[in-house]
Amino acid sequence: MREDARNAANNVNEQRLWQRHAEMAQLGAIPGNGVNRAALSKEDIAARKLLLSWAAKRNYSISADGIGNLFLRRAGTDANATPIMTGSHMDSQPRGGRFDGIYGVLAGFEALEAMDEAGVVTRRPIEVVAWTNEEGGRFAPCTMGSMVFTGARPLADVLDVTDNEGIKLKDALADTLAATPQVAKHDFKSPAAGYIEAHIEQGPLLENARKTIGVVTGIQGLRWFNVEVSGKTDHAGTTPLALRKDAVRDSIAIINALTELTHDPKDVTRFTVGRMLVTPNSPNSVASHVLFSVDIRHPEPQTIARLGDAVEPLARKAAKFCEVKVTPTLHDDPCVFDANVADAVEAAAKTLNLPHMRLSSGASHDAMYMARICPTAMIFVPCEKGISHNEAENATPGDLAAGARVLTAALIELANR
Ligand SMILES: [Zn+2]
Repeated sequence: MREDARNAANNVNEQRLWQRHAEMAQLGAIPGNGVNRAALSKEDIAARKLLLSWAAKRNYSISADGIGNLFLRRAGTDANATPIMTGSHMDSQPRGGRFDGIYGVLAGFEALEAMDEAGVVTRRPIEVVAWTNEEGGRFAPCTMGSMVFTGARPLADVLDVTDNEGIKLKDALADTLAATPQVAKHDFKSPAAGYIEAHIEQGPLLENARKTIGVVTGIQGLRWFNVEVSGKTDHAGTTPLALRKDAVRDSIAIINALTELTHDPKDVTRFTVGRMLVTPNSPNSVASHVLFSVDIRHPEPQTIARLGDAVEPLARKAAKFCEVKVTPTLHDDPCVFDANVADAVEAAAKTLNLPHMRLSSGASHDAMYMARICPTAMIFVPCEKGISHNEAENATPGDLAAGARVLTAALIELANR
C-alpha cells in the first residue's frame, strides 16, 4: 500500500466519526434509539445543513443537482481529472436506525478529513455524495437520487410523485434546495472515475464469521412470480380423494418442487413463499383456488436466470390435478461490481490487518445505479445481529472506524490511478 494511504487511514478519528453519528441521530430521533428522517423532510434539511456546516470548515466545494443529491469535493492536483466518488444516503425508514445510509456519508467525510490531516494530496478530486431519497419510504421509488443522477430515469418522471399527505415531490424538493442556497449547481451524469459506498451490512454474515470488513462484489438478482392454482371446491368429508381438484395439495407439490430446485448446500440462494391466499379458506371445504408469491434471489446472473426460468415449467409439471398460471411480477438482474475496485478495497483491508471476506449484498443500494456509469464496489461493516430498518440497529465505533480506514486507503489508491 502507498505510504500516504496508510498515513491517512491511520488519521481516521474513531471518536469524531462516532460523535457525528450521534449528532445526526438527533435529527429525527424516535424512541428506542431510532431515527425517522424521511427524504426531503425538515429533518432531512437539518441533516443537510449539519453536513454542509462541517464541510464549510474545510475547503471543500459543495454543490447539488436537480434531485437534491449533495456533493462535497476535495480538490486533486489534476484539475482535468474526473473524481473518485464515495457516499450513501441520509434519509431513513420511518422506524429506521442510526447507521443505515448515514454511515456511508460520514465515513466518506471522515476519509476526506483524515486525508487533510495526513497532508495527503491525490491526483483526482474525491467527492462525497449524499444521495436523495434512497429509502423510498415517503416518495416511491427507492434509490431515486442515484437513479436520476445516472440517467436511469429522467427527473421529470418523479417530480409529481406524492407522499401520503398529498405533498408533491417537486414542492418538497424546492423547499429542500431553497434551504441550502449557498450550494453550486451540479450536473446529472457528471463523469466519475470510480465509486465506493460504505454501508452497514444489514445482515448477519460478517458478525457470524467474525469479520470486520465485507468486500462487496455485487448486489444479488431477484425474480418474483405469482402462482395461481385453480381446481374445484368440494365437501371435505364426502368427496373421494381420487375425484378432487385440490388447489392446496397441488400448491404444496409445487412449493416442494421449487424448494428442491433452489436447494443450495452453500446457502447462497434465497427462496421465499411469503404470501398465500386460499379460497374458500374453510376447514370443511377442498380449496378451489390458491394464489402464492415466489421470491428467488441469487448473486450470479446464470444461476438466477436458470432458477427463474425453471419456475413455470416446474410448477406445471408438479401440479397433478389443477390448472396452473405463473405470472412474473419483478425481475432485477444481479449487479456485478468492478473487480479492480473490489480488489482495491480488499488490498486496503489486508494491509490494514483487518479480518475481511468477500460477499454479495442482499439489499439494494445506490451503488447499483453508480455501477452502470463507473467502476463501483462497496464496503460493508458488521451490524449487531444483522438487524436493520429497525430502531435497534447497532454497530460498534471500532467497526465503523475500521470501514472508514479501508475506505480512505482505497479512495487514495484509486484517486492516484
Ligand atoms: Zn441504506
